[in-house]
Amino acid sequence: MIRPSELLKPTPAGLYCQPGDFYIDPVRAVSRAAITHGHSDHARSGHAHVLATPETLDIMAIRYGEDFAGQRQPIAYGGEVDVNGVKVSFHPAGHVFGSAQIAVEYQGTRIVVSGDYKRRADPTCTGFEVVPCDVFVTEATFGLPVFTHPPDAEEIGRLLHSVEQFPERTHIVGAYALGKAQRVIGLLRQAGYHEPIYIHGALERLCAFYESQGIALGDLRPATLEKGKSKDFAGTIVIGPPSAFADRWARRFADPISCFASGWMRIRQRAKQRGVELPLILSDHSDWPELTQTITETGASEVWVTHGREEALVRWCELSGIKAKPLHLVGYEDENE
Ligand SMILES: [Zn+2]
Repeated sequence: MIRPSELLKPTPAGLYCQPGDFYIDPVRAVSRAAITHGHSDHARSGHAHVLATPETLDIMAIRYGEDFAGQRQPIAYGGEVDVNGVKVSFHPAGHVFGSAQIAVEYQGTRIVVSGDYKRRADPTCTGFEVVPCDVFVTEATFGLPVFTHPPDAEEIGRLLHSVEQFPERTHIVGAYALGKAQRVIGLLRQAGYHEPIYIHGALERLCAFYESQGIALGDLRPATLEKGKSKDFAGTIVIGPPSAFADRWARRFADPISCFASGWMRIRQRAKQRGVELPLILSDHSDWPELTQTITETGASEVWVTHGREEALVRWCELSGIKAKPLHLVGYEDENE
């Protein structure tokens, strides 16, 4: 049996599988990459060969252009390929559309790299699947016991209540362009909101892609303002990427209420700093109970923590009799959430 640390090891370019000669979510251009999902800190352009789900490959082409990689190899959920003798399989991670955990198996040792993940139901992506393994590699974006995300329906309910209460104002919701924006729309539809939802231009292509893949988002319209017509948006919900809030775009709407959908909205100070009036705690990452539940369910005897707040999770593992260590991988952001 191979030692786990010989099968996968942290390098400056990312997690490297030596026997298979490939990287997982490399932060530099490499000859062979396996990619968990389309967020830009995990999926970068310029690799010679990319193995990813068809959805993630499409998302990369939308974001970087058709020539984002030399060669692409699609692999569906549950699919398995042999990379230089190493068995590599992809499994749903429940993080964003197309997101996957990558299982790497060699000489009887199996390591699962979860990428980013969450456990709660999301109308816009396939739910997380527990993959039994020897070593589970986990993120720790919200790796502190204080982080427990409230139920999604509660947060969406607060938004809808506010829209009802202030029909003369525009609710502008900041949400990251890949995943969060579509999830907010999907959750609004699930809650029975069937009015048109207005979207910033930066969300158009990804929303159209989700629709083309069978994820219904309902009546979406461009949030384009004609001069002097800002009143048209009174009483509506407008969704835009967080970056759009810094420019004049957001200020043109009728008496806007600034909302922001992020796990970080749990921290009042962050909401205040951003000038958010209605913080919505909606995260695409696991909270503390989900992280610890998942570690337990995988049955892993060893846990590696990639990025985020590693110390508390490592300590929790040790107290639970599971060997654990932080990998201190660099290049992954926890702001984009
Ligand atoms: Zn992500």
